[in-house]
Amino acid sequence: MKQAAPTREKPTTINSDGSRRFLHPADVKGVFTTYRRLFAYLLICVYITLPWIPINGHPAIFLDVINRRFHLMGLSFAAQDLWMAFFFITGLGFSLFFITSLLGRIWCGWACPQTVFLDHLFRRVERWIDGDATQRRLLDNMPWTAMKITKRIVKHSIFLLFSALITHIFLSYFISIPELYRWVTERPTEHWGAFIFVFVTTAIIYFNFAWFREQLCLVICPYGRLQSALIDDDSMIIGYDVKRGEPRGPVKQADAGDCINCNRCVQVCPTGIDIRQGLQIECIGCANCIDACNTIMTKLNRPKGLIRYDSQSGLDGKPRHIIRPRIFIYGLLMLIGAIAFSLSAMQLRSANMSIVRMSGAPYFLTESVVRNQYMVRVINKTNVAKNYSIRSEAKQQSYRMEGNEDGILVPPLGEEVRPIILSVQQDAYSGGFPVEFILISPDGKEILSRKADFLGPDPKLLRQYHEK
Ligand code: SF4
Ligand code: SF4
Repeated sequence: MKQAAPTREKPTTINSDGSRRFLHPADVKGVFTTYRRLFAYLLICVYITLPWIPINGHPAIFLDVINRRFHLMGLSFAAQDLWMAFFFITGLGFSLFFITSLLGRIWCGWACPQTVFLDHLFRRVERWIDGDATQRRLLDNMPWTAMKITKRIVKHSIFLLFSALITHIFLSYFISIPELYRWVTERPTEHWGAFIFVFVTTAIIYFNFAWFREQLCLVICPYGRLQSALIDDDSMIIGYDVKRGEPRGPVKQADAGDCINCNRCVQVCPTGIDIRQGLQIECIGCANCIDACNTIMTKLNRPKGLIRYDSQSGLDGKPRHIIRPRIFIYGLLMLIGAIAFSLSAMQLRSANMSIVRMSGAPYFLTESVVRNQYMVRVINKTNVAKNYSIRSEAKQQSYRMEGNEDGILVPPLGEEVRPIILSVQQDAYSGGFPVEFILISPDGKEILSRKADFLGPDPKLLRQYHEK
């Protein structure tokens, strides 16, 4: 059955009865395809190796949700440091806004894992087993012969294998490599929860790459929806030069433009659109249509670039403005996020300490002393156990600190809570005072300090009480 030409009115991937029209984009060769493929393989290597590359004793990226520890390019964050995620995420969000308003959907076409794995792994396998786009379409529509069954089994077995591998790569960002190895090597009955999680994640990834494919970009991805609001006529997009291409017509037609209406740009499109109808939300910026059209133009001895990276202004023959209000605002917000995150990351320490007053009375009076009790929580963010000590400083007269005599031994990536007691002799007591607790590392370095208050009764009332 001949497929209807794409229109802007309805998605190409949905038939009029609501069923899915499975796309088989044609093969394409060209400069952008080559660079995209090389870049994709480089990215796949990066995705795989990041959890294996140690920086400051931790994987380059390790989001240890179970133990609430997060390691990012040598920086270690405890759950208490998560407020910094606000600056990180907003900075990242505004970077994406900035890049989109400048370069359009460059992320989708070149770097998004969905495109990287689908175009450069799964579709490659499909091409290798099922043949080119025409052969794939024929195979889809033919009866279930032994050949078709064999091809389907081989293809989907490889898809399942890739899905399981991607699941494990994904998990290695959240689970330590030794723990993941244990999950893989032990029997499922020894960790049913983990097994079901891996099974379900593999199934979702398989479903996505084997069947759902471009629908993720078209109907699920929020960034895809958002980008229409982020770009304007001066953003870089992939577009068709209407002035040069129209009226489209055969090579020999004297008054025709450069477009010969060969439809190659439509055949190679992974989302099934016709870019000649203008920029559409379905365009993921993969540049397949540029390479396809450039091949045709080269064969016809016509200049390349009938479809090209340009701005809408450029395609309309108007000058392009790089610096616009939105670029300035997004750039400024991105910079603020980056500076705020960098400044807060500079405050990060290898350990953390919090001090709270023990619940109950704010202070205690014995026969001879005024006593304050605090709970000190020390968090060790390193991979080795450490024996920390705490020193206290106050401008006040002499006082005594208890609870830190043997130091505070904290396990690797663990925490320890310890009561600390400060006492002041009543005859030396002259009122409440501020006190500073300093956390000292085993090698004697001061890591950080926390302020607290020593509370007590009014010294006059206390003296009156003793005089009675
Ligand atoms: S590939 Fe180029 S020449 Fe062919 S239909 Fe598309 S725009 Fe026209
Ligand atoms: S229109 Fe061109 S750039 Fe956009 S998704 Fe289709 S082939 Fe890729």
